[in-house]
Amino acid sequence: MEKTLVLIKPDAFSKHYSGDILKRYEQEGLRIVAMKLLKMDERLASIHYAEHIGRPYYKDLVGFMTSGPIVALVLEGEGAIAKVRRINGKTNPAEAEEGTLRKQFATASNRNAVHASDSPESANREIHIFFNETEIYDGTYTIPD
Ligand code: ADP
Ligand code: MG
Repeated sequence: MEKTLVLIKPDAFSKHYSGDILKRYEQEGLRIVAMKLLKMDERLASIHYAEHIGRPYYKDLVGFMTSGPIVALVLEGEGAIAKVRRINGKTNPAEAEEGTLRKQFATASNRNAVHASDSPESANREIHIFFNETEIYDGTYTIPD
């Protein structure tokens, strides 16, 4: 089973739709195998968004991502990395497809509600920025009678 790293961003909390986002992933059949709420600081932002350092939007991105709570999630499922990227939609909500989370909830490219890993390499890197192995559930979801 494939795992991917998702962040629910501060705009989702200020507008009270973090639960709707979580619900959508569950409805799509993804399993939540790790989850925590935290406040990102500049150092954590510089690690997670290392490839964006120096871009014109970087300062705004860090200011936004450190402005309120975020929830970090590891979602598991068949083809989870591509599946979650599809559910989230394009970075710019004006270009995001109908039915995507960013179409529904994002208000701008820099206020776009969710993050998800874009490849197996980034998923593996990003998951371990936020979680150690003991924080990732590896058991069954079946409850015994
Ligand atoms: P994605 O989150 O869809 O993977 P990127 O990896 O390209 O997008 O960018 C990371 C984040 O940086 C975006 O989600 C967005 O918050 C911000 N960002 C990227 N490009 C822009 C831009 N042109 N203007 C403003 N913010 C941007
Ligand atoms: Mg990205």
